[in-house]
Amino acid sequence: MPIVAQSSIKLKTAIPGPRSQALLARRAESVPRALSIVLPVFVEKTEGAIIEDVDGNRLLDFAGGIGCLNSGHRPPEVLKKIQDQTEKYLHTCFMVTPYEGYLEVAEWLNAHAPGNFLKKTLLVNSGAEAVENAIKVARSYTGRPAIISFEDAFHGRTQLAMSLTSKIHPYKDGFGPFSPEIHRMPYAYCYRCAYNLTYPTCGIECAKKLESLFLRYVDDKSVAAVIFEPILGEGGFVDPPPEWFPTIVDICRKRGILIIADEVQTGFCRTGPVFASSKFQFEPDILVTAKSLSGGLPLGAITGRAEIMDAPGPGCLGGTFGGNPLACASAIGVMQMVDEQHLTDRAEQQGRAFERITRNWKDRFPLIGDLRGVGAMRAIELVKDRKTKQPAPEETSRILATAHRQGLVLLSAGTFKNVIRLLVPLVATDEQFEEGMAIIERALTEVHVS
Ligand code: PMP
Repeated sequence: MPIVAQSSIKLKTAIPGPRSQALLARRAESVPRALSIVLPVFVEKTEGAIIEDVDGNRLLDFAGGIGCLNSGHRPPEVLKKIQDQTEKYLHTCFMVTPYEGYLEVAEWLNAHAPGNFLKKTLLVNSGAEAVENAIKVARSYTGRPAIISFEDAFHGRTQLAMSLTSKIHPYKDGFGPFSPEIHRMPYAYCYRCAYNLTYPTCGIECAKKLESLFLRYVDDKSVAAVIFEPILGEGGFVDPPPEWFPTIVDICRKRGILIIADEVQTGFCRTGPVFASSKFQFEPDILVTAKSLSGGLPLGAITGRAEIMDAPGPGCLGGTFGGNPLACASAIGVMQMVDEQHLTDRAEQQGRAFERITRNWKDRFPLIGDLRGVGAMRAIELVKDRKTKQPAPEETSRILATAHRQGLVLLSAGTFKNVIRLLVPLVATDEQFEEGMAIIERALTEVHVS
């Protein structure tokens, strides 16, 4: 029985009921406080874009488990693949006795990653692990140690990935020392330009600053790679102007520096095409994916030029669970959906619906500093004052809390915690999308008048 008919949405308030409250008490006793919690309700069941909690509250999911569910909760194609796989084997370790599912995932990624050249793919368990491996491979291939990453970037929480990540609190708070040989420069955050310039008269100065980094901070001959998210995820859904990409790529190519695109959050149709790199018309040497790659099971991947991926020798890469058979089966189901169900079109439709619904929001809500995004990767940046652009984190968290109470699972982002971001499953119906946007609108109105 489906938990909700596709056309009817009857949301209930997401305040913790008695069963959630009992579980929250157990959580406090058994789990470190460092793990944050967005909504204090425990999950019972999910489907499509709906989450039902243990007290029978029905929530509309605009977060997708932080961008892992572009194909929705438990789509039948994915469930079927996982179920079939449970009848065969759960684990053997691909490095001990390999299995075909791993190859199917690798072949699909090799075929779909941007770039008309031979590619190979390594599977791991998470986005952070994929990032770590991308850096290992880039260093091995180039024989160079240094990496360039960006302000406001997020690449994960393991040692090297955390070092590449920008924001100090909470991600790096007390966790030093950090990995050496990481150099950082401002990202193309036009709304808050680090150089106080305005696009397009800026001439993409922020990208050209890469050359100045080589002059002042690090010898370009010691740089293995530049790693960036084509659109910042945790950093606040910041999309650079299209010229930023060719400028960065050109500077790197001239110096033998590899391009690593971290598409953990932008990948799998979030921005429209399967990968945002195609949207921005560049071909990464190494593409990093995870999250929506596998519809909710843990899987990460790096896909790169074959000669780069083959740089580390036999036995130099791997991991016990990397490319686990169930995670691969789930990914194959997702890939089938991407090929057959036009998730790309859905992402573009969602993007257009967002633009239509929010068309006059800036006039109505002075709190909104910037409305931005690409495809279905959309965000609302909130400021206390449009002139000073002083971030409005308290108002953002009040809007989130109001939305949560009305049954909408919604996330913030941004270095200043003042960005509302949408990661709506692409299978959400138009009605569900509109309902969620209406909740956000009501929450904005409430916070605006209070
Ligand atoms: N890169 C990006 C762009 C991400 O958004 C994330 C997760 N938010 C990661 C890497 C890390 O992925 P994981 O949490 O699976 O380690």
